[in-house]
Amino acid sequence: MRRFLIAANWKMQGDRVSNAALAGLLKNALGACRDVDIVIAAPFVYLDQLHQLLATSNIGLAAQNVSEYDAGAYTGEISAQMLADMFCRFAIVGHSERRQLFHEHDDVVVRKFVKLQTQGITPILCVGETLKQREAGQTDVVVNAQLDALIERQGVSVLQKAVLAYEPVWAIGTGKTASPEQAQAVHKMLRARVAEKDQQIAEKLRIIYGGSVNESNAAELFAQADIDGGLVGGASLDADNFINICKVVWNG
Ligand code: PEP
Repeated sequence: MRRFLIAANWKMQGDRVSNAALAGLLKNALGACRDVDIVIAAPFVYLDQLHQLLATSNIGLAAQNVSEYDAGAYTGEISAQMLADMFCRFAIVGHSERRQLFHEHDDVVVRKFVKLQTQGITPILCVGETLKQREAGQTDVVVNAQLDALIERQGVSVLQKAVLAYEPVWAIGTGKTASPEQAQAVHKMLRARVAEKDQQIAEKLRIIYGGSVNESNAAELFAQADIDGGLVGGASLDADNFINICKVVWNG
């Protein structure tokens, strides 16, 4: 059985005081967790604070983004090497907010993915369709194309040390979750796409779901055969909600 991953995406929210309070509650409730990966994707500037707060727990750190460049004259950028230096184990790439608001196309996403792996950081590659695309029956084409952009450039073997996140854009931060059946159908299709290239990699690949996951819908989602955890935005800012999501797959 694949190991579940629950990743909190705090987005551009919080401050030192609220981080300390939230991280303290999560550490008490989830810090001893061993059989599930629980990570917090915090804003860059708070990674060190979170590292200090969570140092004696099993809750890991993730970044929400990374530069496609190495060290050098790239004012304002944060490299994968810097993230490794901050003890990040995972980093999100290709989040729909980055794709839509910051115009990150597949080439950029793939370059970021590669930089992370060279530093031993596991990329969480997000794919997902907009509402318009879903309604036009293009879901499979769109998410497959986002996945293929990586496989065609880098080969399927890079998925050995990566996580895929299916995040329908229409479900992110909207309160509209994909039904477990809708999510499972896409996860199954993505896994089959990888299996066309390599069966073993496909079987081991973790495909997590994101899009308005909360304590009320997590159990049904995580019960699906091809859903290996969640990428949780809004609900991760509420300690009880996030703890209950994690407890669906880890009951202490
Ligand atoms: C996300 O931040 O990737 C996300 C899925 O957000 P939310 O859970 O709020 O929909």
